[in-house]
Amino acid sequence: MGKGFFNVPVAVNEPIKSYAPGTPEREEVLTAYKKMFNEQTEVPLYINGKDVKTGDTGTIQPPHDHKHKVGTYHKGGKKEVQQAISAALEARKKWSQMAWEQRAGIFLKAAELIAGPYRARINASTMINQSKTIFQAEIDAACELIDFLRFNVQYMTEIYAEQPQSTSGAWNRLEYRPLEGFVYCVTPFNFTAIAGNLPASAALMGNVTVWKPSDHQMLSAHIVMEIFKEAGVPPGVINMVNADPVMMTEEVLSHPDFAGIHFTGSTGVFKSIWTQIGANINTYKTYPRIVGETGGKDFIVAHASAIPEQVATGITRGAFEFQGQKCSAASRAYIPRSLWPAVEKHLKDEISTIKMGSPEDMSNFMTAVIHEGSFDKLASYIDQAKKDSSAQIITGGNYDKSKGYFVEPTVILTTDPKYPTMETELFGPVITIYVYEDADYASMLKLVDETSIYALTGAIFSQDRYALEQATVALENCAGNFYLNDKCTGAVVGQQPFGGARASGTNDKAGSKLNLLRWVSPRMIKETFVTPTDYRYPFLG
Ligand code: NAD
Repeated sequence: MGKGFFNVPVAVNEPIKSYAPGTPEREEVLTAYKKMFNEQTEVPLYINGKDVKTGDTGTIQPPHDHKHKVGTYHKGGKKEVQQAISAALEARKKWSQMAWEQRAGIFLKAAELIAGPYRARINASTMINQSKTIFQAEIDAACELIDFLRFNVQYMTEIYAEQPQSTSGAWNRLEYRPLEGFVYCVTPFNFTAIAGNLPASAALMGNVTVWKPSDHQMLSAHIVMEIFKEAGVPPGVINMVNADPVMMTEEVLSHPDFAGIHFTGSTGVFKSIWTQIGANINTYKTYPRIVGETGGKDFIVAHASAIPEQVATGITRGAFEFQGQKCSAASRAYIPRSLWPAVEKHLKDEISTIKMGSPEDMSNFMTAVIHEGSFDKLASYIDQAKKDSSAQIITGGNYDKSKGYFVEPTVILTTDPKYPTMETELFGPVITIYVYEDADYASMLKLVDETSIYALTGAIFSQDRYALEQATVALENCAGNFYLNDKCTGAVVGQQPFGGARASGTNDKAGSKLNLLRWVSPRMIKETFVTPTDYRYPFLG
């Protein structure tokens, strides 16, 4: 240990491949897709570096073809959860002491495995399991996960380099220790990159983890785990266990060595976890770190000076890419009366050209929503909007779950700015629009601020710098990621650190130093060179 101040490779964003017709990457991913779609993958639990098969299994079905089965995943019980915790704590003895450059080497290798030999498979698994188009899979499973791994290594070294001042008589050293215990990582269905990053970022900083992926991401979680193993993550450092979430969380949160949670998912679940941690506080050896990125009700605001085509494109991409299932997806918009006819026309023209179907057909811009529960929830809100006098569906509004969970891109126009779909996170391809009077810009901004409990992302479109400034001030606390003249989705690691406040999360900004700082507990070491031998200070005379 400690034989050099090593420089790590300067992190650069992974270039996004085009997958245009005739490109080799298109051929490769379609081949991987067909193979995976037509075979049965068995996903075990991974505990202490070993595949664990319990025989209690769930099935994996593509949301766009839900009668077709592509595999099974094993589920653990209390026994496996406890085994994973014990394996993590045992692994901690060596992992927490390993030199940082060895940890860096492992995760940099994981990034290169994804960029090269695993790219087609991790993308294909995300297309099949989470119904992403190839472009959405590429920017998530390949590029974003690679970026998380590369940038976090660089951020780790920047953190380690931050040291206090020393004097000639004493040397002050700050050691960035991993947390004492294990970190519980709970991940959502919608981003393969988040699933990989939550355990990887904590492990990179020297922690050991128990990772619970979503039931609806098991195929791509399996590939992520294979990559970690091939990259050299030692046994016990990242243990992947799928189990009943309530049981598993109760087991984990009642363990005295529980040292932190790295969560991404819905607000209600995170609040229940926080409540349990509070109730168990006397159980723990340390105060657990609580990091959670949760729901959103993300907005687009247009000022009268905005360019209608830009607003319409921002809405179309922001609301409907990946079927509106990004936490950052636009789901409410505020358009001035003078601009509405032009925005409405462009919006309808654009949406009418959107094709929806299997991601295997690369002319589709949209595919299916994740599962029947989500489909039914969306259908019920759409049906209600068809009945309500304060709402009108101006495009879309149809849905069909006979083959896959398909919901048309739907725009609801409302005369009530507090209409339920202006306030509630639906997590699907539905956006609600409220048209305001041009003169009411200031009061409309207040409305945006007061309408939702969330504060994740938001976007302002305007050609008037004063209007942009006014919105930036008025909406200061409404979004952790705020966009001027751009859609409210598509944050890139290293460029736009991501996270929201209010009910949207603890805003610890995934893909930044701020997040990594949550996974260390600094130890200050002061070394005095000539140690005093007499307690009397000179002033004592
Ligand atoms: P979810 O809350 O249903 O599930 C997330 C994870 O929590 C899964 O692993 C699930 O099994 C687990 N879980 C479910 N119930 C639990 C319980 N009672 N106790 C403990 N764990 C439990 O979310 P989802 O549907 O997978 O993902 C969509 C949600 O995630 C949306 O609300 C979205 O806004 C949010 N999200 C937020 C961000 C962000 O950065 N803010 C990013 C992605 C997704």
